[in-house]
Amino acid sequence: IQQIVLASRPKGMPDANTFRIDDVSLPALQAGDVRVEPTYFSVDPYMRGRMNDAKSYIPPFKVEQPLTGGAVGKVLESKADSFAVGDLVTGNLPWATQAVVAANGLKKIDASLAPASYYLGILGMPGLTAYFGLLDIGNPQPGETVVVSGAAGAVGIIVGQIAKIKGCRVVGIAGSDDKVALLKEEFGFDEVVNYKTATNLTEAIADACPNGVDVYFDNVGGEVSDAVINNINFHARIPLCGQIALYNTTEVPMGPRIQPMLLTRSVLMKGFVIGNYQARFGEGAKQLAAWVNEGKLRYTETTLKGFDKLPEAMLGLFSGQNTGKMIVEV
Ligand code: NDP
Repeated sequence: IQQIVLASRPKGMPDANTFRIDDVSLPALQAGDVRVEPTYFSVDPYMRGRMNDAKSYIPPFKVEQPLTGGAVGKVLESKADSFAVGDLVTGNLPWATQAVVAANGLKKIDASLAPASYYLGILGMPGLTAYFGLLDIGNPQPGETVVVSGAAGAVGIIVGQIAKIKGCRVVGIAGSDDKVALLKEEFGFDEVVNYKTATNLTEAIADACPNGVDVYFDNVGGEVSDAVINNINFHARIPLCGQIALYNTTEVPMGPRIQPMLLTRSVLMKGFVIGNYQARFGEGAKQLAAWVNEGKLRYTETTLKGFDKLPEAMLGLFSGQNTGKMIVEV
């Protein structure tokens, strides 16, 4: 089998020296193990943080060991009572063409309900992130203006649609005119700002949000967020979900000092990691699946084909190659 290891820790943007494909053989199964063949891998921005040797909410990847990430796969062999050969499962799997893993870390999925890859997106971690971040922290009310950055990505495209379900005016921020058109025409966004071409982003957001910003779902941080916060309303809520603009910086850039505005306008800004909501995953998954079945939530994916495309897909997140969830189909 093949596996992709972290060959060296990147400084700044990862490159060809960061990853290496190795040929290896699999260990024998112990009691409670299954042998799984991944069919879809998820690549996610948080994985960049795990490439650094830094303490975080999740331990760093080890150099010379395979990276791991969300995946969907098929059980080829089982020494666990809970899984049979042929079962489709999801869980955290090593970047390998097959893996022997403990069955208790996996969950069975039903591919008759939705495409299997959706369990890595709208019915998986990104969907839950959008659901709890927006509804629990953002607390959007009908008629309010919700702005979401990274709007055409795995999480953002769901945030915008849930905000529409809740009766809000929804403004996205995204990095290409194609993404702008798609979000407006196919996903019901009221306005979308292209942050790469706007001459003055603060003014462009003001134009798109004549009543100001009541909820800002922040996926990106950096200058985009500075511009949104320049338009923030009194008693606004800011779920701090991601800071992708900063993940590859070697020094954190100094922005304007926006905190006085957060103070005087009584703004709530709250960071979260989706693990905070583990006890409520069932509720979130059920509601997301219901909205998908009712046609109220739609989804899209960018799929690269081939196991060896994993590094390229991962890097593509940082240049906006994906619309919706970035998936690698093995
Ligand atoms: P996406 O599918 O949104 O992919 C990343 C997108 O970010 C790209 O497509 C690109 O779109 C945009 N982007 C990349 N670099 C920049 C930049 N410098 N400035 C502005 N935008 C940029 O990823 P996800 O939906 O999976 O994740 C979105 C965010 O949410 C990430 O920051 C991630 O870390 C975070 N997250 C947090 C979780 C939590 O538990 N708190 C859980 C899951 C995700 P464009 O073309 O528009 O630039």
